[in-house]
Amino acid sequence: MSGTKILSVCGQRVWDSRGRPTIEAQVELSNGSVGRAIAPAGASTGSREAVDLRDQGKVLGGFGVKNALRNVNEDIARRLEGLDASNQELIDHALIELDGTKSKSKLGGNATVAVSMANLQATAAAAGIPLWKHLSNSEDVRIPMPEVQIFGGGAHASGRVDIQDFMAVPTGAQTFDHAMEMIAEIYISAGKLMDEAGRLAGVADEGGWWPNFHSNEEALDTLVCAIEHANFKPGDDIAISIDVAASQFGENGKYSLGLDNEELDADGMIDLLGGWIDRYPIVSIEDPLGEDDPDGFKAFTKKFGHRIQIIGDDLLVTNAELITEAAGVGTCNSVLIKPNQAGTVTETKEALQAAQEANWSCVVSARSGETEDTTIAHLAVGWKADQFKVGSFARSERMAKWNEILRIEKSLGTNARLNKT
Ligand code: PGA
Ligand code: ZN
Repeated sequence: MSGTKILSVCGQRVWDSRGRPTIEAQVELSNGSVGRAIAPAGASTGSREAVDLRDQGKVLGGFGVKNALRNVNEDIARRLEGLDASNQELIDHALIELDGTKSKSKLGGNATVAVSMANLQATAAAAGIPLWKHLSNSEDVRIPMPEVQIFGGGAHASGRVDIQDFMAVPTGAQTFDHAMEMIAEIYISAGKLMDEAGRLAGVADEGGWWPNFHSNEEALDTLVCAIEHANFKPGDDIAISIDVAASQFGENGKYSLGLDNEELDADGMIDLLGGWIDRYPIVSIEDPLGEDDPDGFKAFTKKFGHRIQIIGDDLLVTNAELITEAAGVGTCNSVLIKPNQAGTVTETKEALQAAQEANWSCVVSARSGETEDTTIAHLAVGWKADQFKVGSFARSERMAKWNEILRIEKSLGTNARLNKT
């Protein structure tokens, strides 16, 4: 590819779905191609993930990004200008070296991920093809199965229910378009059931219904009811997936379930979740134990890993080394892939490849603080991820990503295949 020398890198302050400031980076190449990307932000973050550089202090609740933005416009721009954008590894290693910390705390993971993804977008623009195709080099891709949040809890709904995500997985769908229609029916039916029961309290951070439930089981029961009321068979047409996000309420092997008024140890958590696996059509559980409890994770996987998908998120933070190590000892059997946990596209890809080499499934995921940026939809398809998780079926920062996959599916025509594994 010619003309892919970086002419300029610049950043701009834009705003995310929580109304907090974030960084949009723009990379312009010598042939005039331009790529843009926006950094997302998590709320229930893993302790080892790349950290966002925030200004602290009183202004904007301390969430300001002036320092991170200066890093983009000065140090990063100076370092990258003149390099060949089509060599993504070169660009990302320049960012990693310039930062020099393990957690990207000097430049800010928000600065590096925005620039890294903008660079990738610029090279796809230079090639004149959609990003997913630029990444896959062929039309031999799979459309990932969506995991769609119906109720939001945990840190995304002021701890109203302990479990963070109650999701529907339309395993019976034939196409992504069909999957979205099934989800729409369930989302409507769940909202209606909650309204009738006096349990509806608006929507949570990722657009899922904010549940006024009295127990975690009530959420699972209501989800099964919503599936039935929408005329689907729980387990056959639509399965359930949950993100326990246990690090949020667990420490040192003790788990305080506020809603159920219980304190459990790891064995207690394993039994509780095992009971749910027996009673509900659950196919996937993310972060069943805390990130500081890998032994609990391992015991859970030993017991249930042959029945369901067990995803490491806070524990593995999109890190290739941690994934390979976890795969070696059987800590879990699947991983969440979030570019801003790693801080660059190259490190994100290495994490995904480490998981694929271990024969794990991969779930490309958005964050709870998002924007209209759809880069991750292209990463999910282009990198052949198994599933795609971007929150609920409301609010445009979520719908933008579902809709982008619909566009990709349409452009593939008869070559489009929905991942059913
Ligand atoms: P976060 O939540 O973006 O707030 O970390 C998403 C998740 O835990 O999967
Ligand atoms: Zn998670």
